[in-house]
Amino acid sequence: MPHSATRVSAGLINPFIGPKLNIPEDFSACMSANQHFFKNFERKVGRNFLESIELYRVLQSLNQKRKWNDLSHEYKKGYLSKEEALKFGIISEFGVGITASWKLNSSNFINCSREVLRSNGNYLEEGFDPEKWRNHQVIFCEGFRVNSNKWFMNLPLSPAQGEVLTVNSNYRVNASNGTWHLAEKGTSLAKIGSTWKHENLESGPTCSARQEILNKLEFLPDLKNSPVVLHESGVRSSTRDRHPLIGLHSEMQNYYLFNGFGSRGCTTIPLCAKELTDFIIDGANLPRNKNLHRFPSN
Ligand SMILES: Cc1cc2nc3c(=O)[nH]c(=O)nc-3n(C[C@H](O)[C@H](O)[C@H](O)COP(=O)(O)OP(=O)(O)OC[C@H]3O[C@@H](n4cnc5c(N)ncnc54)[C@H](O)[C@@H]3O)c2cc1C
Repeated sequence: MPHSATRVSAGLINPFIGPKLNIPEDFSACMSANQHFFKNFERKVGRNFLESIELYRVLQSLNQKRKWNDLSHEYKKGYLSKEEALKFGIISEFGVGITASWKLNSSNFINCSREVLRSNGNYLEEGFDPEKWRNHQVIFCEGFRVNSNKWFMNLPLSPAQGEVLTVNSNYRVNASNGTWHLAEKGTSLAKIGSTWKHENLESGPTCSARQEILNKLEFLPDLKNSPVVLHESGVRSSTRDRHPLIGLHSEMQNYYLFNGFGSRGCTTIPLCAKELTDFIIDGANLPRNKNLHRFPSN
């Protein structure tokens, strides 16, 4: 279906979130689950999807530079001064924080995952028929299209459309000031993005978003002349409190939801998948901040 998120995601997994450079509480647990899942899957199919990278965080103010200098964490790898950053082509008055990060090739991963399921006879392409699945456990994973799922549509969702460009880039760095440039290994391509829009979700790619991305990446000035090879858009299924929505429907006792991953699905999904399967199979408790029953209606 058009406008899904994983297909266009840049797959960036960055420990330091937002201008305050905070690390989400569950970040280490998420990365353990990610590494466990992908190590097994990659071994099974003989391909790599999760790549460890260095992300150059373009510091935006004296305050942010001070905050970076005061941080002490395994994900902080170093600092480049304004002059050192310039050697990589990056213009940054307050320098660059070098961050241990990851990149998930999410599009290749879902294609491969689909092939594995198909080859095992476990992938069906057909509309959902409640009668057919009456005696089965059903997990709905529909991204933002949960807004048309009559059993779960009343949850407080806040979907956001976003756009990503693939460009031919002279820069071979992974860098971000909130808007990112991610160089693709072994090619001259890079993904740059993204944008946020809560209305007109199914607009598809727009000229205004393209301009906005290029404007925000002014710390890599040559990008303005880089040919755009691909322009894509998708919709993030975000929630109002920015936490995922997983759990069991209050009346339909075989209907589960796996949704609400917002802009951080590549970080959070493997851990949430384990939490939901532990809940279904072993009766383990779901984390309160992810359980869909933190909201009254479901
Ligand atoms: C522009 C953009 C950039 C992003 N960048 C990052 C990033 O750098 N790092 C990061 O961690 N996250 C990023 N994200 C977010 C990330 O992509 C999502 O959190 C994640 O992909 C959500 O996965 P999902 O499976 O819940 O939803 P989706 O990927 O949207 O998948 C839902 C699937 O359900 C299918 N579906 C829906 N309804 C039905 C139905 N009725 N019948 C059958 N199938 C149905 C859809 O076709 C789709 O394949 C980005 C998102 C966007 C849009």
